[in-house]
Amino acid sequence: NREWHLLSRPVGWPKAEDFTLVEAPVPTPGEGQVLVRNKYLSVDPYMRGRMSAAKSYAAPFELGKVMQGGAVGEVIASNAEGIEVGDHVLHFFGWREYAALDAKHAVKVGPTSVPAVKVEARDVPLSAFLGVLGMTGLTAYAGLLRTAAFKEGDVVFVSGAAGAVGSEVGQLAKLLGASRVIGSAGSDEKVKLLVEEYGFDAAFNYKNGPVSEQLREAAPDGIDVYFDNVGGDHLEAAIGSLNQGGRIAVCGMISVYNNTEPAPGPRNLARLIQTRGRIEGFLVGDHYDLQPEFVQKVGPWVASGELKYRETVVEGIENTLEAFLGVLRGDNIGKMIVKL
Ligand code: NDP
Repeated sequence: NREWHLLSRPVGWPKAEDFTLVEAPVPTPGEGQVLVRNKYLSVDPYMRGRMSAAKSYAAPFELGKVMQGGAVGEVIASNAEGIEVGDHVLHFFGWREYAALDAKHAVKVGPTSVPAVKVEARDVPLSAFLGVLGMTGLTAYAGLLRTAAFKEGDVVFVSGAAGAVGSEVGQLAKLLGASRVIGSAGSDEKVKLLVEEYGFDAAFNYKNGPVSEQLREAAPDGIDVYFDNVGGDHLEAAIGSLNQGGRIAVCGMISVYNNTEPAPGPRNLARLIQTRGRIEGFLVGDHYDLQPEFVQKVGPWVASGELKYRETVVEGIENTLEAFLGVLRGDNIGKMIVKL
């Protein structure tokens, strides 16, 4: 049983020396527990925050201890009622090959666990419960519908648009009646994907020129909603293009996660006055009441292929750290998954 430990708190970009892969005994499940052999691990941008000592919404990872994260695996021993050997479960004890955990922290998953999905022709793979139908999917759904108060006819701009959350935000907006959806991403290949496969109306590569100019060109009549995954000059550009009554949902600010000095704020906040604009941050953890509605509504779109998704799959527990760093670098298209 191999598991990843955090050795030291990274300063700036995480380095290989900050982590170690440790050989540990396979844990023995206690009363009310299940033993899970993990099949898919999730690596996510928020994990960078948990590597630092600073208090945030999730407690820092402890030094010298195994890290945590979303995972899906197969139950290979069960001392708990209601979960059988052979069941697949979603849980939060990732970054390791085997996990013993209280059954109350395990959620059964699989095509048959999602009633809305089971009736459709296409099976939904287990890894989808870490991405398009999992935490990142709910983030897209709650942030767009609740925080950004999306309504039909809105012009929507989303950054990080080829990533897990962003690609779902853009497609949900289209499926729910946006009048125009614009995305930004960090490569020409990703931009092509947004327009040709995901049905975005326009997209641009933020590395090809100033975001504000490229956004003005893509949204000549302004934007009503900005779903922010990136922060920095993207946020300033979005404020600059905001229409009357525009809403900005702050989901993430990946452009600053490895900064050692605070980044300057948007210089044009005063525009919120004349536009009566609103900026609001949100955490997916506060919106799990929407989970059933999300799965009922989005599950069939995923199963039917109306909502497309990609995964970037890295194989082997030993490559988990590289996969995580890859997310920060933008190596991924769609959800980054580690397959064991
Ligand atoms: P993604 O799949 O979107 O992967 C991250 C992407 O960020 C990379 O692929 C990269 O794509 C892009 N990126 C990296 N650095 C920069 C930069 N300097 N400027 C612009 N883009 C950059 O990850 P997720 O979908 O899992 O997460 C997206 C965002 O949502 C993150 O900010 C994350 O922290 C946030 N989040 C927030 C939650 C909440 O509850 N509020 C819950 C889940 C996620 P590219 O090639 O385009 O640069």
